[in-house]
Amino acid sequence: MLATASTVVVRRLPTRLRWTTRLASSTPPKFNSVTKEDIAHFSKILPPTSILTTLEPASASPSELEIFNNDWIGRFKGQSTTVLKPKTTEQVSQILKWCNERYIAVVPQGGNTGLVGGSVPLHDELVLSLANMNKVRSFDPVAGILVADAGCILQSLTDYVAPHNHIMPVDLGAKGSCQIGGNVSTNAGGLRLLRYGSLHGTVLGVEVVLPDGTILDQLTTLRKDNTGYDLKQLFIGAEGTLGVVTAVSILTPPAPQASNNVILALPSFNNVQPLFRQVKHHLSEILSAFEFIDRTAYDLAVKHGQGRALESDEVEGAECFVLVETSGGRREHDEEKLSDLLEDLLSAEQPLINTGVLAQNPAQFSSLWALREGVTEAVSKEGKAYKYDISIPLASFQEVVDGTRERLRQKGLLHDKAVKHVLGYGHVGDGNLHLNIVADAFLPEIQDALEPYIYEVVQSLRGSVSAEHGIGAMKTHALPYSKDKASIDLMYKIKKVFDPKGIMNPGKVLE
Ligand SMILES: Cc1cc2nc3c(=O)[nH]c(=O)nc-3n(C[C@H](O)[C@H](O)[C@H](O)COP(=O)(O)OP(=O)(O)OC[C@H]3O[C@@H](n4cnc5c(N)ncnc54)[C@H](O)[C@@H]3O)c2cc1C
Repeated sequence: MLATASTVVVRRLPTRLRWTTRLASSTPPKFNSVTKEDIAHFSKILPPTSILTTLEPASASPSELEIFNNDWIGRFKGQSTTVLKPKTTEQVSQILKWCNERYIAVVPQGGNTGLVGGSVPLHDELVLSLANMNKVRSFDPVAGILVADAGCILQSLTDYVAPHNHIMPVDLGAKGSCQIGGNVSTNAGGLRLLRYGSLHGTVLGVEVVLPDGTILDQLTTLRKDNTGYDLKQLFIGAEGTLGVVTAVSILTPPAPQASNNVILALPSFNNVQPLFRQVKHHLSEILSAFEFIDRTAYDLAVKHGQGRALESDEVEGAECFVLVETSGGRREHDEEKLSDLLEDLLSAEQPLINTGVLAQNPAQFSSLWALREGVTEAVSKEGKAYKYDISIPLASFQEVVDGTRERLRQKGLLHDKAVKHVLGYGHVGDGNLHLNIVADAFLPEIQDALEPYIYEVVQSLRGSVSAEHGIGAMKTHALPYSKDKASIDLMYKIKKVFDPKGIMNPGKVLE
């Protein structure tokens, strides 16, 4: 039986809540499952190769749907029977219109590299994969404005603009798989945010299909446009809960003429803040990244073959590491600045660093980056990861990592029991700490030890429970720790305006 729009329950969350247990947020099963009749309808919109279904007559086996049903960290698992892969905006429109009328819940899926369970079904929602929408629509090499289908892989766009001497303003470890539509929908931060700012600034326009099939053409290529409410901003970070992003217009910066990097080994975390000040002072306009990895994160990256390990004397006595990148206009000038910085740091009476390893060639440059970028991958190889991507004052980074480790120790959960590692890394320059707890398995007792403890700590520091990964299914309950009741109420109202039946990615962002 079809539910009616009036049965969509809008629940208000308490401003502060004690949360008990969850591995997946649960959506009340109020939506209709996809049926053979629906597949027959989709067959009028899409060619057979764009419909993967296990419904009879099946076009895919259950194992072929596994990659669409499982999230990257292996924590969330859906039971979708059907994945649709449209090629055009018009096809997306027709699919959503049908799903809206039929009350079928839809999960938009990009590269499925999201880390908060937002990109997979929680029940048997239909998966709408953007993978086949992968064409560049236009590139203006003078203005540096790229317009691309949402399903374009971030790396392929980087490669596309490179011959024009441009780069993408966003870069992240998952660039080989994540899509620009997914990046926009999660408001991905990544490694270049320090230099080029967030996607709220660099995205100029979006094309979005609303749940009722309306195509919202906000695909402007204008740098300046003050004509009323800036609707596109609502879709940047909406995590597929308001509509499907089908294309993106984005400003790409000119490629730096010279990039270099250095990894610095620090004897104590206490040195990170003064180091950041000194690095900013020395490098000013050419500083493009300031990334932090603690010793545990470094050791895991090395253990799992990410980047080239430093020599043993270079890591001896190091409590943590900072990777500094410069991007500028003239190699000699930038190298001089970087060498001056290193000289100053090493000749200081009380040096902030033990040592620094400067990349000498492109291979070493990539290898140093791989140490930092590879931590996420290394953690996933090491075990099951509880991932907290929080914004807190830099001064509190180590305290939060150590406090979490201590709490797990007190609960008897650390080492040889259940939790193998507690580590911190992240985009220090942006105040973003990735606090990871690696365990043998996802266990309720670990979950209970970590939450709401971590969220309460974040709240006490007036931080954010999600700096860049988003809320997804993992943190819907935690939203009140960073947003007040008035803001959350307004978010529910906005959701209702765009998606009155609630078919778009239910159970994500808002409970
Ligand atoms: C190794 C690794 C490193 C990472 N590093 C970073 C990092 O540095 N910074 C960072 O911010 N994130 C990082 N991430 C997380 C992830 O890569 C980003 O969130 C990325 O932007 C997700 O893009 P995607 O295409 O994979 O989206 P998906 O994972 O497929 O989807 C993410 C969310 O967006 C929605 N969505 C996807 N496409 C669309 C669309 N076209 N329209 C509407 N909704 C859509 C989905 O429904 C889901 O809610 C990392 C992940 C990994 C695995």
